[in-house]
Amino acid sequence: MQFTDLGLSAGILRAIVEQGYDTPTPIQREAIPHVLAGSDLEAMAQTGTGKTAAFVLPILQRLTNQGDSPLERVSRNRPRALILVPTRELAAQVQESIRTYGKHVPIRSLAVFGGVGMQPQVQVLRRGVDIVVATPGRLLDHLTQRTIDLGAVATLVLDEADRMLDMGFIRDIRKIIERLPKQRQNLMFSATFASEVRELAHTVLRNPVMVEVARRNSPTELVTQSVIRVDKERKRDALLHLFENHGWHQTLVFTRTKHGADALARKLDQAGVRSAAIHGDKTQGARTRALADFKAGKLAALVATDIAARGIDIDQLPRVVNYELPNVPEDYVHRIGRTGRAGSEGEALSLVSHDERIQLRDIERLIKRDLQTSILPGFEPSANPVSASAPSRGKPQPRRTEGRSSTPSRGGPPRPAGKSPSASHHSGQRHR
Ligand code: AMP
Repeated sequence: MQFTDLGLSAGILRAIVEQGYDTPTPIQREAIPHVLAGSDLEAMAQTGTGKTAAFVLPILQRLTNQGDSPLERVSRNRPRALILVPTRELAAQVQESIRTYGKHVPIRSLAVFGGVGMQPQVQVLRRGVDIVVATPGRLLDHLTQRTIDLGAVATLVLDEADRMLDMGFIRDIRKIIERLPKQRQNLMFSATFASEVRELAHTVLRNPVMVEVARRNSPTELVTQSVIRVDKERKRDALLHLFENHGWHQTLVFTRTKHGADALARKLDQAGVRSAAIHGDKTQGARTRALADFKAGKLAALVATDIAARGIDIDQLPRVVNYELPNVPEDYVHRIGRTGRAGSEGEALSLVSHDERIQLRDIERLIKRDLQTSILPGFEPSANPVSASAPSRGKPQPRRTEGRSSTPSRGGPPRPAGKSPSASHHSGQRHR
C-alpha cells in the first residue's frame, strides 16, 4: 500500500514526499482509513512506529475537507481538534509534525504547555487555531481563564495515554473531557493497555476500531539490548571509558533522578564528552536548547530522566544507555524505544550494579527475554555479580572468574560473556 492509496489530498501527499517517506508504516496503514471515516480508534502502538503521522495526517485531511473559512475563525479561540499528550517535549514535537505534514494546507496549530508564558499562547488562540496540542495542566489553566473554548472540538486524541495515567493526569483528563462536545471522534494511542488505560478507553471511546501494531510491551525488535555488569561506584568511569574508546556520539543516557542527571552530565562534560542534562527542573528554554544541540550532533551525550525523555524524537538515534535501571520495568521499554525508530537499527546498553538485580529481573520478565550480559575489562564487578533471576541471600558469593569476558571492539558494545552454567553456579542465576 502506498500513501496515495489512503485518500489524502495532494497538499498532504506533497508534504509526505518532501519528508522522504516511501510507504506508510503499519500503524499508518491500519489507522488512517478508520480515522478518515470518522471512527473512534483504540491503538496500541509504541513510539517510533510512526503513530504521530497516523493521527495527524487524517486529522489534517478531515479539517481541510470541512473547509471553514478563515474569516470565521478570526477571534475564535475554538480549536476543532485537541491532542492531549503527557509532556512538553511531546507537545512541541507533535505540533512540529503538524506543521511539517500540514505545510501545504491552510491549517493552524498551537502547542500549549507549561513552563513558558501564557500570554503568547493566548494571543495565538485569539487569532484562531484549528488544532491544539496540549499537556493537561496548562490546558486547564486556559480553560479556567476562559482563554480557550473546547466547544467546537470534533476530534480528541489521547496520545501516550498510558504515560499520562502514569503521570497522574487522570483527573485533569476527565475535567477536560467534560468541556468537550458529546458528539466527537476519539482516538487513543498507548504503548501498553494496562487496566487503567482500558478503563479510560471504556469511558471515552465509542465502538472503537482496535489497532495493534506491536506485541504487548515488546521492545522493538530492531534494538540490540545488552547489560554490562559493573560496580555502582565505577559506573561513571565505565561510561566515560565507553564514550572514549568506542567513538560514541548522540547517546541518550538515562538516570533515575534529576540530581543524578545533572551530576553525570557535568562529570562527562568535564572529562571532555560534550553533555547536557534534561529534566523537569530545567527551564523550558534550557530543555529546548539541550535537545536542539543534541539533535544537531553538538552534544555526544544527553542525560535524561524518564519523564523528560518522553517525546524525544531523533531520527536514527544510535544508542540509549541505562546508567541506572528504572524502577518501573515498563519505563525500560519506553527508554529503549527512543532508538531503533522507524526502521533504523539501535542499541540499548544497561550498566547494572548488584543492587539493581531485582529491577533487571523484572525487566527480563516483562520483555520475556534474558538480556545478554558482559563485563568491561578493567571494570570487573568486585563481588556479588548481578543475578537476574534471584537475589542472592546469605553468605557473600565467591568472586567469579571473569576470564570468559570479552574485550569490547571499537565502535561496538562489549561482546557477551554469556550465562554459562558455571556462572550460574556462582551467581545464583537461573535459566528460564
Ligand atoms: P512516531 O512513532 O510518531 O514518534 O514516529 C517515529 C519516526 O518515524 C519519526 O521520526 C517520523 O518522522 C518517522 N516516520 C513516520 N512515518 C514514517 C514513514 N511512513 N516512513 C518513514 N519514517 C516515518
